[in-house]
Amino acid sequence: MNGITQFPNSSRETFVGVLTGADVKRNIAHVFEAPEGATRLRIRLSFNPHRVAGFNNMITLSAFDPLGFRGAGHRHGCVHEVFLDSLGATPGFVPGPIRAGPWQITLDTHMVMPDAPVAYTLEVTASAEPIPLRPEPTAPLLRPQALVPPTAGPRWFRGDLHAHTVHSDAIWTAADLAAWARAEKLDFVSLTDHNTVSGLAEMLALGGPDLLVLGGMEFTTFWGHALMHGSHDWMDWRTRDGQGMAAIATAVAARGGTFIIAHPRAQGDPHCTGCRWVYDEVFPGPARVVEVWNTAWSSDSHNEDALALAYDWLNAGYRMALTSGTDNHGRDLRLRYGFDHVYAPALTEANILAAVRAGRLYISAGPRLEITARAGGESVMMGDALSPEAGAAEIQIAWADAPPGAQLSLIADGEARQTWAMGESGEARATLGVDDARWCLATLRGTDGQCLP
Ligand SMILES: [Zn+2]
Ligand SMILES: [Zn+2]
Repeated sequence: MNGITQFPNSSRETFVGVLTGADVKRNIAHVFEAPEGATRLRIRLSFNPHRVAGFNNMITLSAFDPLGFRGAGHRHGCVHEVFLDSLGATPGFVPGPIRAGPWQITLDTHMVMPDAPVAYTLEVTASAEPIPLRPEPTAPLLRPQALVPPTAGPRWFRGDLHAHTVHSDAIWTAADLAAWARAEKLDFVSLTDHNTVSGLAEMLALGGPDLLVLGGMEFTTFWGHALMHGSHDWMDWRTRDGQGMAAIATAVAARGGTFIIAHPRAQGDPHCTGCRWVYDEVFPGPARVVEVWNTAWSSDSHNEDALALAYDWLNAGYRMALTSGTDNHGRDLRLRYGFDHVYAPALTEANILAAVRAGRLYISAGPRLEITARAGGESVMMGDALSPEAGAAEIQIAWADAPPGAQLSLIADGEARQTWAMGESGEARATLGVDDARWCLATLRGTDGQCLP
């Protein structure tokens, strides 16, 4: 024995190429023919240089077998190594049989810095190895969510709509994310990995009566990011030349899902390639939910600008819901995150997402805040509308757990109409005539001006 085993039904192919600045924001497919009888596929991508002028080139891998999506490895670095077999796969990729026929291995060129050609080598190997049973095989993709008895409401439920795991570029696992959510005493948590749903089965299985797990994906495109909730199936995120995002938003809704424009004013290229929302056709187009608080309030997601953008859309007559997302990658758990406080009839995926779409929520890093309004015989809460014939509206704002020195403002049609210096808890009242404003909300800011709710 010389230690080298030759397996039948093996094949190997090496693709090499050079990318320039003209190749940025492309999905470059390489076709690999998997032979009959192969049980394992290995993919290795390396490229050089990794860093140019202080910025990283970012090229990621996606895999499609003859029947469809088999995973995406949305992560940084200049060496990507992936395996797939019937029982396991590198996080981000989907375990399953190595189907014979053409596989598309795609290089997603999120960033190729100009004036510095990038040489890459892509090696794909199919082999017919015996697949050992692993002590903890990756959960099958389509495992149904553990049955969770709906927690009774209606009441406020607190949770997060945006987080990642090792299935994309986070440093923690689904179990870590669930443990963090329980430590934060969240009622619900979400896994929205970049361009893959391979972690969902494991994440959904970690839910229980005390913690509802929502799942979906973050469309991590070259021209903006958006969250999909309420559908556990992979959806193609690849838009062409900036087009196709309206179709994606419409398709998510057709599946009964929720589409959220994520961190629309984040710092974009080349700092965070594709992170800033530049889809003219979805400004907001068919989108009705926008994340205005991403990670910490004062982060380079530019949440203040995102809030101003949401005001513009509301002023333009779009009935938007505003959400928060921790975008937690497991790196810095000391940040002051905003969470979503959602008023729903029960703690189920359908109820929480319907309440989010209806705008029955506030976002807060701690304080509680609730707006109600009365006009004529009508009484409404956040997300609701008063009929014009109801007359002037009496607005009532109630808060609790506010820090010393906090300021409460009533915002109507994008303008601060009234501001109160406030105590730890209390109530404020204001009147808005029918012609005074078409919409209103309240903000609560600390002495440093940062948003609290
Ligand atoms: Zn994002
Ligand atoms: Zn994210």
